[in-house]
Amino acid sequence: MGHKVAIIKVASHSNCQTTANKIRRSVELLGGIEKIVEKGDWVIIKPNLEAAREARTAATTSMVFIQTAVEMTKESGAFPIVAEGPFMNYSDEVVFQVTGVRQLCERLGVQFVNLNSTDTVDVEVPGGKAHKKLRLPSVVSEADKLINLPKLKTHHLTTITCAMKNLKGVLPGQDKQLSHVLGIHQAIVDINKIVRSDLVIVDGLLAMDGMGPTFGRVVDLGVVVAGTNAVAVDSICARIMGIDPLHIRHLKLAYRDFSFDPNAIEVVGASIEEVQRSFKIPRERAGYHIALRSAHLLDRYIYRNLSGGRTIFPRLSGLFGLHPRIDAGLCASCDLCEKSCPVDAIDLTKKTINTVKCIDCLICFELCPNRAVVIRGISAD
Ligand code: SF4
Ligand code: SF4
Repeated sequence: MGHKVAIIKVASHSNCQTTANKIRRSVELLGGIEKIVEKGDWVIIKPNLEAAREARTAATTSMVFIQTAVEMTKESGAFPIVAEGPFMNYSDEVVFQVTGVRQLCERLGVQFVNLNSTDTVDVEVPGGKAHKKLRLPSVVSEADKLINLPKLKTHHLTTITCAMKNLKGVLPGQDKQLSHVLGIHQAIVDINKIVRSDLVIVDGLLAMDGMGPTFGRVVDLGVVVAGTNAVAVDSICARIMGIDPLHIRHLKLAYRDFSFDPNAIEVVGASIEEVQRSFKIPRERAGYHIALRSAHLLDRYIYRNLSGGRTIFPRLSGLFGLHPRIDAGLCASCDLCEKSCPVDAIDLTKKTINTVKCIDCLICFELCPNRAVVIRGISAD
């Protein structure tokens, strides 16, 4: 048999110690951490903290996964570095505070690197089709090993986001957008050609379906999935979500580029059937979907022909971004959002949100009992 993938069931409401034990068990089923991380290695630990949303929203990796990966790395005599670079719609520092990663790393005494603002090196991508060359953070390019800690979610552009897609997050700042300009599916595969996951541990405790990757519905799945090959792990995770891996474009391209046989995966621990659920695939409102796709095509044309190699999507994203507004017709003036806004950006007398003050944390969106806080193109249902 080929690549081993471990599936472990764990109730999503388990305490940290129980969850940590299950995470460790998943790695033991692969042969143990010592088979993967060697004494003296510098090890990047890459969670999915793409947005300013806590793990309970299913948008980001739970802190217990990061803590357990740090502890296992240290026990192997290696040196962990937790690293992440959130997507450009959010303030990096707000993401690090809301998710709790800053506080966790301080408590564990482990180095944390913001991948959006660190030194980079240019790296050739052997066999790259979308990305022939990439700008990588030096800390990632120089590390000995990488432990990938993705969240299991649907994604409105790539159907699912798991281990392979999580590595797009290592690209610094606006380079993440470049992957969209060059063709997101092939770009994901190309990134995985030069940034290899030595160990993947998927946080599938609370997964997400529907309008992923940020505002979908929470699915109480209760699984940890681990493996040493990102393509194998994503293939099994797709099947757990009830999705044929061949219907996921970046996986299909990965099978071709890596000569990967999806039938040669050995599942250990629980079976796929024991944990499988039918995930709702994301659907954007038609108008928003067409506008977003058009913006990507326009950006691709401008990048290739007019801008001298610069992507303009950050400017366009003002049109497609996450800024909330209050639908006065739906608002019952219950006061919940105004009281909870961390920066006093909501004025309920006028039913307006001050876009200068607003930090797009979307607490108001989550809390509103009447669905009166709306975000362009996104539905919470
Ligand atoms: S939480 Fe919703 S219903 Fe309540 S005041 Fe805010 S917008 Fe209106
Ligand atoms: S208005 Fe809403 S999204 Fe903006 S800062 Fe306040 S709670 Fe967060």
